[in-house]
Amino acid sequence: MISCSEQQRTACSIGGAYTALAIEKVLPVLHAGPGCIQNAGAVIANLNGAQRGVSYVNSIIPSTNFCDKDVVFGASGRLHKLVQKSLEYYKTDMLMLVDGCSSEIVGDDIEEVASDFADSPIPVLWAKLPGFKGNNIWGHSQVLNSIADQYLKKLPKREINPKQVNVFGIVPYYDTFWMGDMEELEKTLTAIGLEPNIIYGRGKGIEAVKKIPQGAFNLVLSPWTDLEFAGHLQDIFGTPFFHYPCLPVGPTETAKFIRELAEFANLDRINAEAYIRREEERYYFYIFNSVGQFLGGPQTPKRFYINSSAAAAVSLTRFLVNDYGKTPVKVYITDDVPPAYQEGIIRSLRDINSGDAEDFDIVFTNDGGLCVTEMEKEAFKYRKVSFFGTCWDQLFANNHGLPFVAVSAPSGDVISCTASRFGYNGALSFLRDMCRDMSQKVLGSGIVAKLVEEQPADH
Ligand code: SF4
Repeated sequence: MISCSEQQRTACSIGGAYTALAIEKVLPVLHAGPGCIQNAGAVIANLNGAQRGVSYVNSIIPSTNFCDKDVVFGASGRLHKLVQKSLEYYKTDMLMLVDGCSSEIVGDDIEEVASDFADSPIPVLWAKLPGFKGNNIWGHSQVLNSIADQYLKKLPKREINPKQVNVFGIVPYYDTFWMGDMEELEKTLTAIGLEPNIIYGRGKGIEAVKKIPQGAFNLVLSPWTDLEFAGHLQDIFGTPFFHYPCLPVGPTETAKFIRELAEFANLDRINAEAYIRREEERYYFYIFNSVGQFLGGPQTPKRFYINSSAAAAVSLTRFLVNDYGKTPVKVYITDDVPPAYQEGIIRSLRDINSGDAEDFDIVFTNDGGLCVTEMEKEAFKYRKVSFFGTCWDQLFANNHGLPFVAVSAPSGDVISCTASRFGYNGALSFLRDMCRDMSQKVLGSGIVAKLVEEQPADH
């Protein structure tokens, strides 16, 4: 073996259980080893914006805690009992049975256990998520497919709402700022005349899930995630979808997105343009008023590296090049993008407004440490770059005095709360994070240095 992968940046597929946890009052019931959900949660929840379940904290998720004895005898009976008790004791609108590697390998059938509860007034669904099948993004897609195939298909047909748009593409929990992004998106889509239907987060839940089939169209905001699911919904319900290849960040991309969406959905163009104008005026006021003074100076690095998910890489590259004339040096994409989508992602990354910036390298890799290994060969003492990655990359950035912002899981010392990366506010929030780090490492207000100098010698 000549090389090894290091530094986990995605969870195993059981992390898909977090997609169930992102829907209010949907309770995952685990048929997996006792540590499985903790492993996943560390990467995409706890250490990724200090996130918890929307309705249930991670530590109270029911689990059979599949162990040695169960490997020999199986534990389907215990799962059956656990489902019974979960229905009895938890206030829930839907159960999602989820298995892990060990129970899947020994052949325990969660589908069969779920079928024992076919008559339950609370739907009991299942999603097989053994870690050897893929990462948490794959797990996320399985949970969505389960909802469509085992629940939505069985609902009585409803009339299409010509204004309703279902929003997909953002992977809850894995995308650190999904909650803030959803809130911002909801405001924007409503302002331009649509009725957004978002199933994840506060105040949505099963009622929003039920509305999926009546959407006029599905919106997929990502380079590749949920594209297959949108295709699946088109097959089942005939719902068309509008694919925008990234979550727009900043004025250029957001205006482009709104115009293309307005065209697709035949929205009032005057209203859409008025919204763009209003938001741009507000955005540039805050740029001029505060962060702008950090961005144009000679000490501000012009070049940057990214080591992140495809979603973050495409959004940030387009924002930093199109709005601020920055130049990518190399973009590493670490979320195991299926080969069929890689060409499209490369095209989206190179679809930028700067001739200078088009030559940069793009690498798809499962080795999260590759980026830093290669950056270590560069001399950053006099020619600084900015670096956008995960908490794994932060130490390297700090040691070399490189401006750094965590943009991908696990984000580490970040509190997601209402922070967003979408649109105008998302860009301001990103720039604020970037300028704060840059002012400490590159520019310096002088205040901190002065305080350190003035401390008595015995401190
Ligand atoms: S890889 Fe398998 S055993 Fe390991 S955490 Fe994931 S589901 Fe559990």
